[in-house]
This record gives sequence, structure tokens and C-alpha cells, in this order.
Amino acid sequence: MTEQIVVITGASSGIGQATADRFTAGGARVYNLDLTAPAAPTAGAIWRHCDVTDHEQVAARIGEIVREDGRVDVAIANAGISIRRPFLEMKPAEIDTLLAINVRGVINLWQAAGRQMYEAGSGVLLATASTNATAGYPWYADYNASKAAVLALCRSVALELAPRVRTACVSPGYVMTPMQRLEYTDEMIDEVNAKIPSGRHAEPAEIASAFYFLASAEAAFITGQQLVVDGGELAGGTASS
Ligand code: NAD
Repeated sequence: MTEQIVVITGASSGIGQATADRFTAGGARVYNLDLTAPAAPTAGAIWRHCDVTDHEQVAARIGEIVREDGRVDVAIANAGISIRRPFLEMKPAEIDTLLAINVRGVINLWQAAGRQMYEAGSGVLLATASTNATAGYPWYADYNASKAAVLALCRSVALELAPRVRTACVSPGYVMTPMQRLEYTDEMIDEVNAKIPSGRHAEPAEIASAFYFLASAEAAFITGQQLVVDGGELAGGTASS
């Protein structure tokens, strides 16, 4: 079988890194487009410096990969940031940065990879959204809006590029990653765990498994949709900040 060529943004840490590990374990050739090199060892993903907010840079990286490997089969727009603060205190420059990474970053990757997939006749565009796109979480209004935008992109692009290219999002609930560790104290983490029906945060590898499925032939009839991986949080209506 031909080796799958997979590009993941923000794979130097957290969910992206676990996803890169999952795909390399499955035999794929994985490129990690991230601002920084991975701090912890990875299972063999190839790191290329890239700022996802820079359209030209993303297009250049995808162009290099296509020249080296002939194509990109799967592109996962995962790089994202969140900033925890009240809505009335949000500063315009912070909002611009967040939206540039979380929304324009997805558009940049999906355009660059989607163009060559469409010409090649097949491919899968994936992104990391969030349960925050669906439920209202206080102190994350701009982040929540950015993830809702990702779901909207997912639906629209699915219609435009079908039947050649599929799109899908994974919407994680709470995941134990460096991003989460930065923003939550141990006490806050315990409080959140008590409200999640499964009683805990997800491990990054559990989000990676969802991406692995959505990229596979097993998911060939899934497009324009999100797969929520949240331990029952949304089903239970227990959204918590
Ligand atoms: P993380 O902070 O561990 O990793 C994010 C990675 O993105 C880092 O390696 C960082 O260097 C990279 N990055 C940031 N800005 C970039 C840019 N401009 N260009 C290229 N790379 C950039 O975060 P994580 O928790 O693994 O989150 C990954 C994704 O999952 C994000 O989109 C986040 O919104 C989403 N998410 C996280 C959780 C959670 O609980 N951790 C829940 C739902 C959704």
C-alpha cells in the first residue's frame, strides 16, 4: 500500500503531537508545521517551521511537500490558542491574534492542501474544533466564536470540494495538554472532572484516534461533520468554564 502523506499543524505539542504519533505508528509519512520544534521526542514526524497565520508560508510548505512526496493525502489544521479572560476585557490585538491562528490558520492550510487535493482528485481536510463551538463557556467568547467558525468552514468547504475532497472536524472536550495545564489550576481541573460524565479529561491519544478514523477509508461517507469526543460532557449538558 502507498504511504499516506499527512500534514498536521501545531504537532509539536499536545493533541497535534499525539495525532502525529498515531499516524506515524500507522505507517504514514507525517509533516508537522509548527512555530517551534517539539520539546518532547516524537515518533518520527518531520518538523518544518511554519506560522499558520502566514498564507504564503503555509502555501510554500505545502508546495515543498508536494514536490518531495508528490501529494498531500490528509491535512489536519490543529494549531490553535485560547486566552482565558472576561469578554469585556478582551483587547483588539489579542482577538486579532486568536482569530488569525484559529480561523485564518485553518483556511490557509485547507486552501493550500485542498487545492492540490482537488486537482489530484482526492484528499481529506480535517481540523480541531471544540465543544466550545457548541456550548457557551464564559471567559472564552472569542475562542468559542473561532471554533464555531471552524465548524462553519467545515460544512461549506465540504459542499464546494465534494465529491473529491472530504472535510471533518474533531471537537474535543477537556483534554489534558500543556494548553490546559497553563490555564487551569489543579483545583479547577478537579472541579471540571467532577462535571464530566466520564469523570476525567481526555488523553491526547484519544483525540488522535478520532482523527485517525476520520482520515481513513472507514470514514469515506463522512464529510462536513464534526465528531465530538468529550466524555459525555455535551450530552449531559454539563459545560463548565
Ligand atoms: P498546545 O498548546 O499543546 O499545542 C498547540 C501547538 O500549536 C503548539 O505546538 C504551538 O507551537 C502551535 N502553534 C501555536 N500558534 C501557531 C502558529 N501561529 N503557527 C503554527 N503553530 C502554532 O495545544 P493543544 O491543547 O494540543 O490544542 C491543539 C488544538 O486543540 C487547538 O486548536 C485547541 O484549540 C484545540 N482544543 C484543545 C482542547 C484542550 O482541552 N486542550 C480542547 C478542545 C480543543
